[in-house]
Amino acid sequence: MDLQRLQRALSLEAELGFTNLQGREQTFSQFVGSVFGQDPPSDWVLDGDDRRRWRELGSRYTLYPELELPERQHLVAETRRWLERVRRQQEQPQPFAPTGRSPRSHPPSPLAASSQQRWGSQSPISPPLPASLSLEQPLQFLKGIGPKSAEKLAQLGLHTVRDALYYFPRDHLDYSQQVLIRQAKVGETVTLVGTVKSCTCFTSPKNPTLTIFNLKIADKSGTLTLSRFYSGRQFAQRSWQASLERQYPKGAVVAASGLVKKGRLGLTLDNPQIEVLASEGSLQDSSGVGKILPVYPLSEGIPADLVRKAVQLALPAAALVEDPLPPDLKQQFHLLDLPTALQQIHFPETAECLAQARRRLVFDEFFYLQLGLLQRRQRYRTQAQAVPRYQPARGELLDRFYQILPFQLTAAQQRAIDEILADLRDPLPMNRLLQGDVGSGKTVVAVAALLAAIQSGWQTALMAPTEVLAEQHYRKLVEWLSQLQVPVELLTGSTPPAKRREILRQLQTGELPLVVGTHALIQPAVQFRNLGLVIIDEQHRFGVEQRAALQQKGDHPDVLTMTATPIPRTLTLALHGDLDVTQIDELPPGRKPVHTVVARPGDRLQVVRLMEREIAQGRQAYVVLPLIEESEKLDLKSAIEEHQRLQEKVFPQFRVGLLHGRMTSSEKETVIEAFRRRELDILVSTTVVEVGVDVPNASVMLVEHAERFGLSQLHQLRGRVGRGSDQAYCILMTGSKGEDALRRLKVLEQSHDGFFIAEMDLRFRGPGEVMGTRQSGLPDFALASLMDDQEVLHLARQAAEQLLALDPDLKRWPPLSRILEERQARLLGPGLLT
Ligand code: ADP
Ligand code: MG
Repeated sequence: MDLQRLQRALSLEAELGFTNLQGREQTFSQFVGSVFGQDPPSDWVLDGDDRRRWRELGSRYTLYPELELPERQHLVAETRRWLERVRRQQEQPQPFAPTGRSPRSHPPSPLAASSQQRWGSQSPISPPLPASLSLEQPLQFLKGIGPKSAEKLAQLGLHTVRDALYYFPRDHLDYSQQVLIRQAKVGETVTLVGTVKSCTCFTSPKNPTLTIFNLKIADKSGTLTLSRFYSGRQFAQRSWQASLERQYPKGAVVAASGLVKKGRLGLTLDNPQIEVLASEGSLQDSSGVGKILPVYPLSEGIPADLVRKAVQLALPAAALVEDPLPPDLKQQFHLLDLPTALQQIHFPETAECLAQARRRLVFDEFFYLQLGLLQRRQRYRTQAQAVPRYQPARGELLDRFYQILPFQLTAAQQRAIDEILADLRDPLPMNRLLQGDVGSGKTVVAVAALLAAIQSGWQTALMAPTEVLAEQHYRKLVEWLSQLQVPVELLTGSTPPAKRREILRQLQTGELPLVVGTHALIQPAVQFRNLGLVIIDEQHRFGVEQRAALQQKGDHPDVLTMTATPIPRTLTLALHGDLDVTQIDELPPGRKPVHTVVARPGDRLQVVRLMEREIAQGRQAYVVLPLIEESEKLDLKSAIEEHQRLQEKVFPQFRVGLLHGRMTSSEKETVIEAFRRRELDILVSTTVVEVGVDVPNASVMLVEHAERFGLSQLHQLRGRVGRGSDQAYCILMTGSKGEDALRRLKVLEQSHDGFFIAEMDLRFRGPGEVMGTRQSGLPDFALASLMDDQEVLHLARQAAEQLLALDPDLKRWPPLSRILEERQARLLGPGLLT
């Protein structure tokens, strides 16, 4: 079975909206059904449950065409998650031996196996290596590149032959898919070549945030208009629009590729790749170029052909690039050698060659990242070995805690607690990330961990990103811990000096076993006698240094970080490779999914009625406003105005409160407290309610300008309601007319699965935007492939583990450790990697 193909089919189906895609021979559901109709791969070790599951999943696909959209979506998500889990189970690390085969079902890759013979170390497409060519040679000295061109290339950061080799295309145009305009059929991915008839870029007269770009092209068979949409006021600038138009002058030859769809102006391409060619057929003619053409990231005024030419001239030097990966490892993981990969990423012979080249280069990115993270973890653990740990298997405190809990733990919570307790028993310090959707009940898990540490005689600290949150945790903890006679204190920036002195004293003497707080906890004056466990809530809101600062207040304490941001598993692994991850993948019983609708301005009256009805029944509502303007002042003004409008004009009969970012913590706390006590019916807020405010009586969440939020952020906001067993509502108000914006928001109408939503967010906005490329430290192409090539990431992890198990200091592979050091500086230096 080809697992990769199956995974790709599933992700494509999700990406294209669960339409039961028609493949060349089968529909999506037929394909998946037929894969599951066979036995699971013989080298998989599955237990009875999973074998049954395999068959059961398969049989459900026969009904797929009949399913409604949300059901399709859930089946696909479930299948992907199951596959992912099972696949991970198969990868028990194996000793790394030259003859060792990967124990997992590795998709057979005939190409990789034979690549060495087929391609040799130098691809047939590149001219022989000129004697003078070297990697450090300035591009200017290449034949055909003059000083003027070199200057332009320098603007892209391309100075030497090596730079050009590592300037990876952002895409490729596949001329093997080239068709005439008349032959384009809906649903096919094609490349069209034509001349520009007209090009216009303008802002919609009805919507100042929507800018439309239309490019009309013609070939001998017909004409077609390509469109792109830009959303945001910044694109309304005429100068920007004009510069875009200038890129496609009348008569220019362009190639465009993309998925054919029906548009308002007839057939068009969805989100087309458009590329200006020097002349029709210019590139097909040029010798040695295959059918697949690289498209490079460019800046204005730098012709695409110039970059292509520079790369092509530099290409023979790829053979000079040293491949630091041990040959055995390359063989085991079916990887191309580096020179070949570098050549094929630019000018691939076939789509398969391109895929293999990309696989190798993406593998490298992850491999070095994982090596670095694992090595760091190893070092940390070696240092920590001398520290005695504790034995909190069970104990009085924990047992009593379970007794006073007003509810039964979910199985997922119990599992999380068990994993954490096992970590605490382990002599090596814990470094675990606890992920759980909003409302999944992470706090209880945290408290269990704290009590386990406390009953073994350690001090503990819980740090939250805002005072409001710290205060809320404190409240919960006091409620529970006072019954257990465990003292707990709150330390924030607003703690009065006398109280603060007292807390500091008690921490130093060890009298105080648990302190909850904000950044105030990491001030130098805060000192513990024996800090054994640190818990950090909403970990992504803290920087590495802040987390490290708290950690350093103990001697290698155990660390538990918690997040409700459902980063897809792959990203977690990529970004936090040195963390262990626990997921709470289940909500407490009895929760009804929040009824979610995307509403238009025309629906306002109905929304008001809904809010009135809910409030009349004793419930409460949130109204969330996004940050719109560049200036905080203006945002504040609009929040104040909206509050006033709602209070005076729309809901004069109700009590409307206001919460915004410019209030001090105690002002915020006062308002939230009033809301909690039901002294307010409606809370108008800028995004501060996003994190963790827990008011179970609230049943309506109205989000204005919902299109301005990321899906995951909206999911978090929605999590503020529906915390009880009554029906709750989330209304996503948007005036946006963009098709994409609406499709994006509709994901929330249909799904309540935080991981699924996060993944859709990544697909719509791209990982760079969601995660921040800078933050992740990974290049865009690697991030992008995270969504599709999860396989490679796991392999890279496995390879790094194997290698380090054999050779912790990488002494046997000097080139490898040299490259690792170079990359370390780039990846682990300033980023937010743990
Ligand atoms: P989050 O994971 O978002 O931090 P919380 O820990 O705030 O979630 O829990 C959300 C709500 O669910 C809280 O009011 C909490 O008391 C409640 N809760 C937690 N676990 C359970 C459970 N097993 N059964 C019922 N309610 C629970
Ligand atoms: Mg929480």
